[in-house]
Amino acid sequence: MIAMTQHSKTPLIDRLPTVQGRLTPDAPLAGITWFRVGGKAEVMFRPADRDDLIDFLRQKPRDLPVTVIGVASNLLVRDGGVPGVVLRLGRGFAEIRTEGEDVFAGAGALDFNIATAARIAGIGGLEFLCGVPGTLGGALRMNAGAYGRELKDVLVEAEAVDGYGNLHRLRPGDFGFRYRGSAIPEDWIFLSARLRGESDDPKVIARRMSDIQNARADSQPVRTRTGGSTFKNPEGAKAWELIDKAGCRGLKRGGAMVSEKHCNFLINTGNATAADIEALGEEVRRRVRDDSGIELQWEIRRIGIAADGDREATP
Ligand SMILES: Cc1cc2nc3c(=O)[nH]c(=O)nc-3n(C[C@H](O)[C@H](O)[C@H](O)COP(=O)(O)OP(=O)(O)OC[C@H]3O[C@@H](n4cnc5c(N)ncnc54)[C@H](O)[C@@H]3O)c2cc1C
Repeated sequence: MIAMTQHSKTPLIDRLPTVQGRLTPDAPLAGITWFRVGGKAEVMFRPADRDDLIDFLRQKPRDLPVTVIGVASNLLVRDGGVPGVVLRLGRGFAEIRTEGEDVFAGAGALDFNIATAARIAGIGGLEFLCGVPGTLGGALRMNAGAYGRELKDVLVEAEAVDGYGNLHRLRPGDFGFRYRGSAIPEDWIFLSARLRGESDDPKVIARRMSDIQNARADSQPVRTRTGGSTFKNPEGAKAWELIDKAGCRGLKRGGAMVSEKHCNFLINTGNATAADIEALGEEVRRRVRDDSGIELQWEIRRIGIAADGDREATP
């Protein structure tokens, strides 16, 4: 059992408030991440609904670390696991409703399902979401984008709860959006958002969605164990071109490999550890720095602690 946040001999699970949803100690995370690697959550919490989550945050020990995850399509969970509570928003947060040219969705709704609901309702402009394999919560945090559009371009408003259970209504201007990120405090949890498109023919929308999916299948290793783009594109450059030029295409470390198909994707060839993937990423950064003088920044978020128990500072 991992007991990393214990101040006393009482296991963490016994110090948590009673909830309507599910609290699971020592919950394996590898199986629910796209990379299929990583350790356990000290405790996993799947709240039944919004009120359950808010009550939990209001009553939990104040110093308890809480990490929210979506479907972990942009996450590398380290091998030693994640101390504290890992929060996963499930069915109670997956509602999708269309109203005129708006789509209202819970933060646990899949981006693909949001794009599909918009298509059925004849709402164009949200097609790009069908190419992002995450949840709305992850898309809000990451300012997810593809094919010329980002979440910030379609957001009307969002609701979030902070680490103490206080609710916040957010307008796009409150987010401090930037390329693949925002300035919202790390401990805030998005609950839902309203997105806006424009009226369009469902057949035309369907064609655009299928073009996006075909383009992705041609250029990305979409059916492998990966975390999507590993590094952000530096100002005025493409990360994949820098990685290719530094000779990293196909580079391996343990069971991790730089994809031959798209060299800004790292893949788990079958038996990689999170340490293999992170070390390979750092090796790529080193080679690119030596080759072009450019310091690549991780887009993939790394959470948890290494197998030897070292807590890393970098998110
Ligand atoms: C094959 C592949 C292709 C991809 N293509 C794209 C692409 O084209 N464009 C793109 O932008 N991304 C892409 N990604 C990356 C990824 O899908 C996005 O970043 C996505 O938005 C992550 O959503 P998620 O639900 O999986 O979040 P996670 O990976 O689980 O988490 C990512 C971050 O969001 C935070 N988070 C998650 N939910 C919430 C919430 N409710 N409240 C607050 N914070 C939250 C987490 O704490 C974490 O910091 C791709 C990934 C893969 C594997």
